[in-house]
Amino acid sequence: MYKKLFDPIKIGSLELKNRLIVPAMSTLAATTEGASTEQFIAYHERKAKGGWGLVITEYFGIAPHVGFFPRMLGIWSEELLESHRELTDRVHAAGGKIAAQISHSGRETFIGISDENLAAPSPYRDVEGEKRPRELSVEEIREIVEKYGDTALNLKKAGFDAVEIYAAHGYLISEFLSKYANKRTDEYGGTLENRCRFLLEIVANIRKKVGDDFPVLTRLSTVEYMPGGISIGETRVIAMKLEAAGVDAIDCSQGIFTNSYNIVEPSSMENAVFVDNSEEIKKVVSIPVITAGRINEGNLALSVLEAGKADIIGMGRASLADPDFPNKLREGRLDEIRYCIGCIQGCIGENMRGNNCHCLVNPEIDREYELKITKVGKAKNIIVVGGGVSGCEAAIVAAERGHNVTLIEKDNKLGGLWHVAALPPGKTEFLTFVQWQTKKLKDLNVTVKLNTEATKEMLIGLCADEVIIATGGKPFIPPIPGVDGENVHQANDVLMQNCRLGKNVVVAGGGSVGVETAEYLAMYGHSVTIVEMLDDILNGCERETAMLLRKAIKEYDIPVYTSSKVIKIGSDTVTIERKGKEIVLEEVDSVVIAAGSRPYNVLQSPLEEAGIPVRVVGDSLIVTNGLRGIYDGYMAGYEV
Ligand code: SF4
Repeated sequence: MYKKLFDPIKIGSLELKNRLIVPAMSTLAATTEGASTEQFIAYHERKAKGGWGLVITEYFGIAPHVGFFPRMLGIWSEELLESHRELTDRVHAAGGKIAAQISHSGRETFIGISDENLAAPSPYRDVEGEKRPRELSVEEIREIVEKYGDTALNLKKAGFDAVEIYAAHGYLISEFLSKYANKRTDEYGGTLENRCRFLLEIVANIRKKVGDDFPVLTRLSTVEYMPGGISIGETRVIAMKLEAAGVDAIDCSQGIFTNSYNIVEPSSMENAVFVDNSEEIKKVVSIPVITAGRINEGNLALSVLEAGKADIIGMGRASLADPDFPNKLREGRLDEIRYCIGCIQGCIGENMRGNNCHCLVNPEIDREYELKITKVGKAKNIIVVGGGVSGCEAAIVAAERGHNVTLIEKDNKLGGLWHVAALPPGKTEFLTFVQWQTKKLKDLNVTVKLNTEATKEMLIGLCADEVIIATGGKPFIPPIPGVDGENVHQANDVLMQNCRLGKNVVVAGGGSVGVETAEYLAMYGHSVTIVEMLDDILNGCERETAMLLRKAIKEYDIPVYTSSKVIKIGSDTVTIERKGKEIVLEEVDSVVIAAGSRPYNVLQSPLEEAGIPVRVVGDSLIVTNGLRGIYDGYMAGYEV
């Protein structure tokens, strides 16, 4: 059925074995000098083994300190070149092809760039930029053009199969292309013809240095979604000019950092959301067109090819969630695929915190160099208490290592509060992870006891060598006068539709759960007000998800009181304290408490007293997020 996805295709002289590729994504796993590390190499090698037609690395800077992030790949010395040769050799040995992206981040670089390199076509900062860039002189532009060519040549020498010019996402080249960023009046500004000049000079310089046969791709933001930003009409022209200049493929993306949910789309955005943009490019060029954006299933990928909207599918996050995606799809092992759920906690979320790229549903990704599952010499009797996603992960990994594992869950199904987490608008795909874990537990012959409340006596009776406690958290009920009233409900009960609310609702708590619940209620026609103690809502929420939730708050016209504490709940009022003043919200029909959770762990002490070794994971240890909870579960299973 998926045969078309596995038809070979050529990008210039490079033949790909299939149409599924990994676009450039940051891992931040290079050394501070820009060399490949064992971590970085093992990560790419893993994907090559998984069957991807091509893997494109995160960008190589054309010079030191020109990256968005402080850690950036570089290839301006022989030593660096050698480190990357090991990368390409190992990817090739694993049966893969590897291309390298090349970039200068221009003004879009609030973390990683040096002040000296903070430069742009014009001296204006992006909306989200922290510092104002300086304007590049024509002489500097020419030097940068040369450096793009030098970088491409070094990459060719290091054994890469292709290079990709990074002309997207508001970085330097796209700043030249875009009227939003380029206010010049010389030969590099003004008309589209002039705005293309910098990119076309780079293409010509690269071609001169790498020769006609070496494949060169270009990544574009087909639409920037900014006032005055690049439009699809302009990108059609840019793509035609690139083809005429000898570029071998157009890799379509969207957006800039200021609206980065168009670059890394959270789950609340549609699947295959931007394929109409790549279709427009495909209409005007005959070279291959690559598309990307929330294409996380084989059916979706196939439909894009069938509809003629692109020739190649970029599936970056799908490759993090399951590096074996192409092989499993080709072999029809669909129910073994672990799907990307669009949470963005592990990938871009971790990058934005300065960490390596990780994945919530796949704790092994980018840790291949240090996590290697090996069978234990002597199997133990391991009992996992709690069948939420952390507990299931612990049970899976312990069973993979050869232990005899029993999983005890008090509910009638696995997944725990993950089922509730999947209820707000746009989060239903979270459930695919529960499906994957459930199948995996079955395949590994883990004994699953549902509808069973674990007790100390039961666990002693089961002769546990070790117990992993994953009993999760319990909602926190703040001690507010009136909180026990009939008009007051927990956010979880609201999402599960266990209660009916009146028209006017106050949500106490503006974290992710509170705001998602408010959006959910507004969708069902309620008039909602959010009250948050901190000075802003969505504390700890991922940037792109938060951006979309803020948009929803605006669209539904939801009033938000920040720095405000609910101090009393009446039968139809909520009293809040804000900056020393009391405000009474009137005609309130219902109140929803979204004040977070506290760890629930009543078994640890009695078990330890009985001499049974115990590990505590996930929310039952500390309430944070799914990324940490699932990693905790994985590590408990790995170390037990
Ligand atoms: Fe997808 Fe979430 Fe994994 Fe990122 S962390 S790849 S969004 S599942």
